[in-house]
Amino acid sequence: LCTTLRSALLAAGCVEVVTPHIISADALAKMGIAADDPLADQVFWLDRSHCLRPMLAPNLYTLMRRLGRHWRRPFAIFEIGTCFRRDSRGSRHLNEFTMLNLVELGRSSAESEARLRELAALVLTAAGITDYEFQTVPSGVYGDTTDVVVDGLEVCSAALGPHPLDDAWGIVEPWVGLGFGVERLIVARDGYRNIERVGRSLSYLDGVRLSV
Ligand code: ATP
Ligand code: MG
Repeated sequence: LCTTLRSALLAAGCVEVVTPHIISADALAKMGIAADDPLADQVFWLDRSHCLRPMLAPNLYTLMRRLGRHWRRPFAIFEIGTCFRRDSRGSRHLNEFTMLNLVELGRSSAESEARLRELAALVLTAAGITDYEFQTVPSGVYGDTTDVVVDGLEVCSAALGPHPLDDAWGIVEPWVGLGFGVERLIVARDGYRNIERVGRSLSYLDGVRLSV
């Protein structure tokens, strides 16, 4: 599925980036993850100032700013890569999962909402998912986020900028960002009951159990 998603995004003119798995505590702090945030307890720390990235956003924020100095608007970048979270290992959570994070910079705010839905549709169509709904989740400090839900399963959280965090990252233009869980997309498409079947595994390959 990663290959299919990558091709669809490249065909739509998005630029792929590949960034480090290891990020700094500073970068995480700049994402505004307060001590009482559920994510704060989910971070895999390597030492006092480094962790395994729980999200792609800090790296993409940095690249958006750096590339934004040179590139014409609008432009979109995406990464498909592993993120790490100590999540309550239920049937929907993996400790390491594949995130597809797509960010577009430099369209007008008036276009943002429609563009968010358009980009979501692009990814969902490429993933072979036709039945989905958007749910807007009001979240006080960070502005509204829009989730894409398939049969009750959140497959994507998306947000629009300008955003209160932008200042810390030197971003001053509107943007649209979407973060998909690739394993969740497969679960949603193929109706698997447990996400473990489609995650990084020594026990399953393409959803098929290896032990006989
Ligand atoms: P949830 O509420 O389901 O735990 P989240 O809102 O914390 O997810 P986000 O931070 O919005 O997750 O991450 C973007 C997307 O990454 C989610 O919509 C989901 O598809 C996927 N995702 C997040 N955490 C995990 C995980 N532990 N395992 C697999 N996929 C995940
Ligand atoms: Mg979410």
